[in-house]
Amino acid sequence: MFLYTCRHFYIINMENFFNYTRLDLAKFLKESFELPKFRADQLYKWVYARGITDFSLMTDIKKETREIFACTFSFPDLTLETRLISNDGSRKYLFKLKDDSLIESVFIKQEKRNTICVSSQVGCAMGCAFCQTGKLGFKRNLEVSEIIGQVRYLLNDAGTFDEEFTNIVFMGMGEPFLNYDNVVKAIKILNDEYGFAFSQRKITVSTCGIIPRIKEFFETEVPASLAVSLNSTTSEQRDVLMPINKKYPLDELIETLKNVTLKGRRKITLEYVMLKGVNDTREDLTRLKKIVSKLKAKVNLVPYNPGSKEDAFKTPTENVIYEFANTLLNSKITTTIRFSKGKDIGAACGQLAGNKNKDR
Ligand code: SF4
Repeated sequence: MFLYTCRHFYIINMENFFNYTRLDLAKFLKESFELPKFRADQLYKWVYARGITDFSLMTDIKKETREIFACTFSFPDLTLETRLISNDGSRKYLFKLKDDSLIESVFIKQEKRNTICVSSQVGCAMGCAFCQTGKLGFKRNLEVSEIIGQVRYLLNDAGTFDEEFTNIVFMGMGEPFLNYDNVVKAIKILNDEYGFAFSQRKITVSTCGIIPRIKEFFETEVPASLAVSLNSTTSEQRDVLMPINKKYPLDELIETLKNVTLKGRRKITLEYVMLKGVNDTREDLTRLKKIVSKLKAKVNLVPYNPGSKEDAFKTPTENVIYEFANTLLNSKITTTIRFSKGKDIGAACGQLAGNKNKDR
């Protein structure tokens, strides 16, 4: 809890600026110092738009107010542990947090656009059978500032490579909808015109299917698009691959997606990790087509990336992958194939293990 102390008092606790949405900041400044709302706007513009965190340079704010801010806010960066660069130009970042937890973020180099993939939790409790993060178990939720810290670090680093990214996906470590409040606040900062100003169409959150939060996400018009990790076309199989299905079954998930209102958002993306001999049969394809035809959705096929030669799951053959894609496309279903980037550095989908010993 903040206690105002500076010059005349002891400093007890500095507030991490990156935890605050602009609305929360205005409220905090009003309640703590009786400052008007526009001070929050000014601070946001200085910090996010101009990259200035030195209060002495914020010349449109009067001196006493700047002194209060200097005693109140800190702007800590995340600590980089390692950065690995793939042969395809993608980069994986391992960050050490203040409690020594490790999280990973990925810069995905693409032909037409670059994307960053951020984590929302340390580890994950969902235990999806095909995911390295799931094997870690859950440690804790990330703070808003730890999510924003990943974006800030990767944004600055992209500058050193003379590159930029336009898209942000919450598909790193963790289930974003189990850290819902902090993820939504981070999205608001990313979307804020005085913050990072990423359009809502450029921010995508991926969930394994936490139904109550999916409803809330649409009802409260969170400014981002939704991806749902589907991966199975029957509840029996999904129970095995994604244990969350036992709590939020496939039929209920599809019904929920059918009833949401997109309101200017992109179509929902159904992520389908293709596992050889498991969910890549013609029957799976027929059922997948039927599911998508009920929804305003597109399909992203993700050929599985085995973590090692001993991995129980394998990548389907190219023939099977393209048969899936072409059949869906022929049924007028927008379909993409995400051939993973950064496989050689363990940065591909499902490979984030948050362990520097596993880095290659
Ligand atoms: S796929 Fe996503 S939800 Fe499932 S275990 Fe991995 S990180 Fe968690």
